[in-house]
Amino acid sequence: MPTLLEQLVAKTSRRFEERYREPPRWVVAAPGRVNLIGEHIDYSDGFVLPMAIDRYTVIAARENDEARMSNDRTKDNSSFVIRHSSLAATVFSDATNDEVTIPLDTPQRHAKGGHWSNYVAGVMAGCVARGLRPSGFRAVIDSDVPLGGGLSSSAALEVATATLLEAITGVTLDPVAKALLCQQAEHEYAGVPCGIMDQFASTLCRADHLMLLDCRSRQVELIPFTDPQLTVLIINSNVKHELSGGEYAQRRDQCEAAARKLGVSSLRDATLDQLEAARGTLAPASYQRARHAISEIARTVNAAVAVRAGDWPAVGQYMADSHVSLRDDYEVSCRELDLLVELADAIGRAGGVYGSRMTGGGFGGCTVSLVETQRVDGIGRNIAAVYQRETGIEPTVLTSRPSQGAHIVQAPS
Ligand code: ADP
Ligand code: MG
Repeated sequence: MPTLLEQLVAKTSRRFEERYREPPRWVVAAPGRVNLIGEHIDYSDGFVLPMAIDRYTVIAARENDEARMSNDRTKDNSSFVIRHSSLAATVFSDATNDEVTIPLDTPQRHAKGGHWSNYVAGVMAGCVARGLRPSGFRAVIDSDVPLGGGLSSSAALEVATATLLEAITGVTLDPVAKALLCQQAEHEYAGVPCGIMDQFASTLCRADHLMLLDCRSRQVELIPFTDPQLTVLIINSNVKHELSGGEYAQRRDQCEAAARKLGVSSLRDATLDQLEAARGTLAPASYQRARHAISEIARTVNAAVAVRAGDWPAVGQYMADSHVSLRDDYEVSCRELDLLVELADAIGRAGGVYGSRMTGGGFGGCTVSLVETQRVDGIGRNIAAVYQRETGIEPTVLTSRPSQGAHIVQAPS
């Protein structure tokens, strides 16, 4: 049986050939991600513990006629050389059924704000700024990471684009620099002020490993997660509650206010004892938010230790505690996420669930659960059925083991 990635690679290559009447020369892949634990603490200089999921964005590409002409002339030693600035990339996305042409010397933002190609153009600009000089090319993008589903299709698209430019130019970027340039593209071209987790996970994750990322030092530690009896179950509630605005910024401010009161530069440097001692001086909301941040940072570090030891009941308990903290102290959960977690908890250890929690920003999106591989399909079906009965909303269920980060699938030798 071909893997999901092999199937997607074959499909994308086929699409490329249908569109451009020749096979692709380069094929690259970059995954989506899910965060097992460590939520809403990146901006408190905390830790996150994501893994790459077995869902990818794949790009198939080949040089275009412009590039061929340019190459031929160079070979002929002709005095006429097409200037680099005339080279462009034509990029088609299957998901949006839309083609764009991006000049490679100065990749521009799309005239329409929020256009998907901004993620691509932003990464191209970042790569060009770091000295990569790709020839003109055509590309087809396909993805089985759900778009806008909280599994970071945006980082998958960015990191796949950077990986494609590495394949075309034969230049390998430093992986941390690569992740950071993708983040910068999301900030500056897509206008999304994201943290560093998504691009780091898509770039640096490895199969059978979780990634413990220190959001302060940007140090990455890969933690083996090799036990085949464990699988990660991801259920998208398929709700996204409209926020009145400012909810995230407000929590950030509350964390910063607490840090100031505690005399630390970020909550990373505070302990729960310090927080308790200062409780009387803090606004109740600030106290609550800080209690989440400080306890979540400790839980994430402890969960990584438990993963290393193969202590799955402990990992599950940390995930369960994380959910309670996000629900009660940080107040970013919602009825639907709570229901999904309650249903998983009700199945419990005896039924094959080690632990479950909301993952991502909150107010909708996904839950992540640590589940026995043998029983994961039945568990996913059961939770989905009750959830749908109670809410009238069909959830999306996905399972994954920790998967390989971005890589070149095909390149001429
Ligand atoms: P998430 O990253 O959780 O999936 P985002 O809102 O951050 O959600 O990113 C989703 C956006 O990224 C899409 O609306 C689209 O603009 C862009 N995108 C992601 N993958 C693709 C793709 N394969 N083709 C075109 N655009 C994509
Ligand atoms: Mg995103």
